[in-house]
Amino acid sequence: MNGMIERPAAFADLSGRVAFVTGASSGIGERFARVLASCGAKVVVTARRKERLDALAEQITAAGGVAIAIVLDMRDEVGIAAAVAEAEAALGPVDILINNAGINYGKRAVGMTAPRFDDEMGTNLRGPWLLACAVARRLIELQASGRIINISSIGAFITSKPGSSLYSVSKAAVVRMTEVLAVEWAPHFINVNAIAPGTFETEMTSAFVNNDSYVQSLPRKRICSTAQLDSTLLYLVSPLSDAVTGTIIKVDDGQTAR
Ligand code: NDP
Repeated sequence: MNGMIERPAAFADLSGRVAFVTGASSGIGERFARVLASCGAKVVVTARRKERLDALAEQITAAGGVAIAIVLDMRDEVGIAAAVAEAEAALGPVDILINNAGINYGKRAVGMTAPRFDDEMGTNLRGPWLLACAVARRLIELQASGRIINISSIGAFITSKPGSSLYSVSKAAVVRMTEVLAVEWAPHFINVNAIAPGTFETEMTSAFVNNDSYVQSLPRKRICSTAQLDSTLLYLVSPLSDAVTGTIIKVDDGQTAR
């Protein structure tokens, strides 16, 4: 794939901004990194799979953008602090955070072990909380504004698939995290919002997007592509959403309005 998106569905001038994207080695995070770079942001791509991050950063750079790759495990609090410092040293203070990394073990509650509980909540909630705080702390010190976009899920609102109980809990917590942090940081002009996607085609959903009975159960009987999230992302990082904070935008093709 080309390093950057030639014609995103929407555009925002993000020149001079530094965007930190978690879970950028695949799916929504990878797409968002390319879109942000296409709009002029300098991009920090993070995840655990180094080769994928290096390839993405190289593609963005080759297409005329600015990107660096930092290996980061969201369960590692020392790593989170170090990654934010490394990003700032390389590109300047982070003023856009895309808190996107997430996992879903897909186990029923009675099948989850305690270590898996910690793993899923650590990746989906604890890490994003610590990272948001690390970015906001620095912005507050610098008296700079910023945008934080947390990726929740419609699982925060409905139980559509069996076996996602803890995932739903973690994503509901991301909703509340978005609201409370928005209030705490409103005086600092750090806007905190969330996107709650329905089912989009990525590695996470590969097990069921080709399941015809699942697809047929959806209101539009289709699986959306990550490109259909671009405009919401760009709205939330642009001046157009200056007064929008503490809001959760569902982009779900009607999947919760049943
Ligand atoms: P993918 O599985 O494609 O991407 C998940 C990303 O998270 C990968 O880049 C993975 O990278 C990263 N990740 C997982 N664990 C860790 C960890 N411990 N530390 C750092 N990074 C980690 O799935 P999606 O793109 O679909 O998921 C992105 C987000 O969107 C998730 O939060 C998911 O819950 C949410 N979402 C997705 C929906 C969908 O339909 N696709 C619907 C609703 C929400 P690596 O393995 O290299 O570390």
